[in-house]
Amino acid sequence: MGVMLSPAEDRFPSEEEVARVAGLVPGSVEEAKFLELRKELDEKGFLVTTTEDLFTWARTGSLWWMTFGLACCAVEMIHVNMPRYDLERFGAAPRASPRQSDVMIVAGTLCNKMASALRKVYDQMSEPRYVISMGSCANGGGYYHYSYSVVRGCDRIVPVDIYVPGCPPTAEALLYGIMQLQRKIRREGTLDR
Ligand code: SF4
Repeated sequence: MGVMLSPAEDRFPSEEEVARVAGLVPGSVEEAKFLELRKELDEKGFLVTTTEDLFTWARTGSLWWMTFGLACCAVEMIHVNMPRYDLERFGAAPRASPRQSDVMIVAGTLCNKMASALRKVYDQMSEPRYVISMGSCANGGGYYHYSYSVVRGCDRIVPVDIYVPGCPPTAEALLYGIMQLQRKIRREGTLDR
């Protein structure tokens, strides 16, 4: 038996529905910008923008992250990429090669022995590169702040762009951190870093 659609029924998703599927927060600046661009594209069939904006847009929408899971925080880092939060809808996908990664997520306790490896991997990443420090341990040593073997914050080894607090931070917190990084990249808006 066929399904009949009433003539009044709108078969196409509304602008807001499209924005929601795109992972944009209702009422946010990003959603407003998205809707504005979509309207312009619908009306004219093309968009005019600057190269810099285009690069920034591409950069924020393809944040391949270098996994650096060091301890329990790594489980939440894995969680954020699983179907419940589905980080890939933001264009952020895990990448096991530093040379093709844009952002390193330091998730867990950084020991002195591991510090040189962390720095080496960071040095292998190409510019522009970003670092997210995830959890109390990576942020400042956490529970192990006074331990002889733990680095009191990964920012002693690599420059950190975003700190995600918590022990462990939730997957939502990391997701929010990634959105903050996207905002930061948009704000910087420069080809050089
Ligand atoms: S911050 Fe807490 S959850 Fe994360 S690595 Fe340290 S002890 Fe584990």
